[in-house]
Amino acid sequence: MKLLKRYLPVLLLLFPTFAHAELQIVATLPALGQIAAAVAGEDGKVRVLARVGQDPHFVPPKPTLARHLANADLLMTAGLALEGGWLPPLIELSRNSRIRVGQPGHFAGSDAVEMLGTLEKADRSMGDVHPEGNPHWWLDPLRAAKTATALAGRLGEIDPDHADAYQLRAALLRKHLHALVIEWQPRLVDLPPVVSYHDSYRYFCERFAIPVAGFIEPKPGVEPSTRHLDDLVALIAARKVTQVWVEPYHLGRLVKRVAKLSGAAVFTMPDSVEGEGADGYLSMIEQLLESAAGRNQ
Ligand SMILES: [Zn+2]
Repeated sequence: MKLLKRYLPVLLLLFPTFAHAELQIVATLPALGQIAAAVAGEDGKVRVLARVGQDPHFVPPKPTLARHLANADLLMTAGLALEGGWLPPLIELSRNSRIRVGQPGHFAGSDAVEMLGTLEKADRSMGDVHPEGNPHWWLDPLRAAKTATALAGRLGEIDPDHADAYQLRAALLRKHLHALVIEWQPRLVDLPPVVSYHDSYRYFCERFAIPVAGFIEPKPGVEPSTRHLDDLVALIAARKVTQVWVEPYHLGRLVKRVAKLSGAAVFTMPDSVEGEGADGYLSMIEQLLESAAGRNQ
């Protein structure tokens, strides 16, 4: 025992994991996982349920995903029912009461930021996938910054020993994101409006003052009619739209048809990319910005 006492500090130095039980964090989407990893740093291990390029509204709720949730100290979601169709059964299956809605281990990013496009009432009967408002807030770097701060606060509640470290990392991410917005905002003014498939880029477009002329979907989650597409093609000509933005999971014949009939270019605009932590998140936003800036070419 005496020996152990003497050598324990040395052992802890050599094997820091003994001394340092890192938090187990699960994020529903890759971009949220990158924000979480930036805030958690070496004090947390982040796993992500959805894959890059997967439709965040419809992730197949495989039992393996529930296994990831079983030991989670914190679950980070986009919120506003984005994951409503697939996450609740996984939480149930995980039998992890710490990550249930209302528990400290359940963190919905949407609770931390101001929402856009909130509907008056839920309307799933119309095939609407945004019954509580637009959940795609993570494509706005400043809302991501706010969420990072709120997440740091929550992680600090669960793991008070590292509360300061979470706050410091969130502040660093915030600094990078604010700098990015200040750099890019002036570069995107006075460019033609865009058309997008789904209403994914509302927050991104609002942040950078990019006008959105219309959508291929008449309502979020609703397939367009031929009439709607014809009207959209006319609108693209009238508003001099040069780009049609499409989520990787919506790329298909409808987009190609609109592009062919209107002459607008199709841009695949990711809502997640591969990459670690802050670097991964920032590279996604930069990719979106580079494409958006291409409208004047
Ligand atoms: Zn959506």
